[in-house]
Amino acid sequence: MPRTLFVTSALPYANGPLHIGHIMEYIQVDTWVRFQRLRGNAVHFMGADDAHGAPIMLKAEAEGITPEQLVARVAADRPKYLQGFHISFDHWHSTHSPENTALSQDVYRRLKAAGLICVKPVEQFYDPVKKMFLADRYIKGECPNCHSKDQYGDACEVCSTVYSPTDLINPYSTLSGAKPELRTSDHFFFRLSDPRCVAFLKEWLETPGRLQPQVVNKAKEWLSGTGDKALGDWDVSRDAPYFGIEIPDAPGKYLYVWLDAPIGYLAALKSYFEAGKARANGEPRTFEQFLADPKVEQIHFIGKDIIYFHTLFWPAMLKFAGAPYKVPDHVYVHGHLTLSGDKMSKSRGTGLSPLRYLEVGMNPEWLRYYIVAKLNANVEDIDFNPEDFIARINSDLIGKYVNIASRTAGFVNRHFGGRLPAGPLESPLLKDLQAAAPRIAEFYEQREFGRAIREIMGAADVANAYIAQHAPWDLAKDRANDAQLETVCAVSLNVFRLLTLYLKPVMPELARAVEAFLNIPPLKWDDANHLLLDHKINPYKHLMTRVEAKQMDALFGSLNGNGATAAPGAPAAPAAAPAPAAALADAGTISIDDFRKVDLRVARIVEAEHVEGADKLLKLTLDLGTETRTVFSGIKSAYDPATLKGRLTVMVANLTPRKMKFGVSQGMVLAASGEDGPGVYLLEPDSGAAPGMRVT
Ligand SMILES: [Zn+2]
Repeated sequence: MPRTLFVTSALPYANGPLHIGHIMEYIQVDTWVRFQRLRGNAVHFMGADDAHGAPIMLKAEAEGITPEQLVARVAADRPKYLQGFHISFDHWHSTHSPENTALSQDVYRRLKAAGLICVKPVEQFYDPVKKMFLADRYIKGECPNCHSKDQYGDACEVCSTVYSPTDLINPYSTLSGAKPELRTSDHFFFRLSDPRCVAFLKEWLETPGRLQPQVVNKAKEWLSGTGDKALGDWDVSRDAPYFGIEIPDAPGKYLYVWLDAPIGYLAALKSYFEAGKARANGEPRTFEQFLADPKVEQIHFIGKDIIYFHTLFWPAMLKFAGAPYKVPDHVYVHGHLTLSGDKMSKSRGTGLSPLRYLEVGMNPEWLRYYIVAKLNANVEDIDFNPEDFIARINSDLIGKYVNIASRTAGFVNRHFGGRLPAGPLESPLLKDLQAAAPRIAEFYEQREFGRAIREIMGAADVANAYIAQHAPWDLAKDRANDAQLETVCAVSLNVFRLLTLYLKPVMPELARAVEAFLNIPPLKWDDANHLLLDHKINPYKHLMTRVEAKQMDALFGSLNGNGATAAPGAPAAPAAAPAPAAALADAGTISIDDFRKVDLRVARIVEAEHVEGADKLLKLTLDLGTETRTVFSGIKSAYDPATLKGRLTVMVANLTPRKMKFGVSQGMVLAASGEDGPGVYLLEPDSGAAPGMRVT
């Protein structure tokens, strides 16, 4: 009996482009989803932009556009990533949509009717200039413990003391620089501490097979916390101005973005049904009928950073909202992606740019294969290592897998008119590989992708040994060997067909090319039960190229590159030998929109250091108000690092991060240089400017 699966991946925040962490998750979910489709299960794979909240409101304001315009621009950017990496969402929607407004307000009303919403006054910092309440991340001040300046509202980065923003000495708003005032406002809380919620969550978490054991343990820690760590009620309201969904019957109050974001999964599903796409995908029922069906499996894939929201708030919201809502059947959690051992920051997206990966012409299915080969069902980080990537792709995909076809297909065409024999083929190799299908399927099902790949590549090794042993190139020298040559080639190409089927969830486009070569309809999992015999194939065409080291250089940028693109660590003009100042008109003109693409920000140099082995570079640590960046800048000839600490300057904040010999440079500071001598002059804003301010 085929299963019906409603599958989601975590919704990306709509304040910027997708980063490699998103792509890694999509590759994991897409592989699982494609496997389920190959098995004949009905899959409805939903994605959406997470569009609400203060950061999007403030970013739009900083750009002089509406939040709707910002969200629309970001949404328009999504397909090139999703199509680029062959991610097969059935529908992509947005949390800023009529469906999500209706569903979120409905869920809220139902929770309120169930007695699970309460009102409590909350004292919070308020920015009198911006006329808004400030989340902790928008407040800085002096540490009450060690008196370091410019510390965030939750903890001191110097002495690591944890405190609340009201403990800061001389607090200021990072948005306006104004001194925030304490004000009281009524907030709405979801009563997660209600005994009904606690009892339900206990049972939900402990249902065998629902969650990974590590995830159950983490969630139970939160659930059973006492004292300071006790599970508190959840503040689900925010005061205007806020970009979000209005709370019914509460003017000026909005639902906190984390309440409406997961409901966005359902909003995407509803929009998919209402657009007729569910029907086109073989689902005849209405959205409500589908949602209420206990046989429909609701499965969320997420990263480990959002376990809290998805294993406590989300199931409790759904449970107490009642039918047709139902609780998730599974929440599958994955670790993060590191780059050669370094954590890739989610907010900065440093390291591996997915768009650059595509732009430099690298094959998206190389990345799919590499990531899948490293994934398992645990909540473990996986590492992207460039040398390992090259070795793995070239050895596994080219050296082992593609090699099977490229070494045998030509003989079938030249000696046997492109026809595979009628058989039967008595081959232990093929029997074993057919018998592996249920085992490999179970690995895919359990998200033990790495083990599936090891099994597949183990079989490819055996096949290559078989080809080497029978040496079809020698057999082909004498027509007397034709019968044996025909068998060797038929066995090899049938192995190749089975391996292609097993790899198809990972590399759908490659599988399509193989299906065209073998002249067969799209492979389904059941096709493992039979062999391809008495069948005409097409001439073999090269299926996949090798990864070149120079592609990796292009992907990550190279300090020793051709200089066609300036390294972001360098100042705007070269440091050592400044070019003569060009006549102003030489630069041509640009539109204001072109200029606005450059995100120039005031930054404070909190640290400046020499870089071991670098003649021209200083390593700068820059405070941007809401985050810190590392920039390598070619200003060593002009500045003693000690004199730079504490100074304000101007940086390009949205430059693609560039991996350099000494680390990743996350932007560029601006400096002037002229034709009279070798001077380099760092830009500095007038007094009063604060880190993070936009330069326009
Ligand atoms: Zn401190």
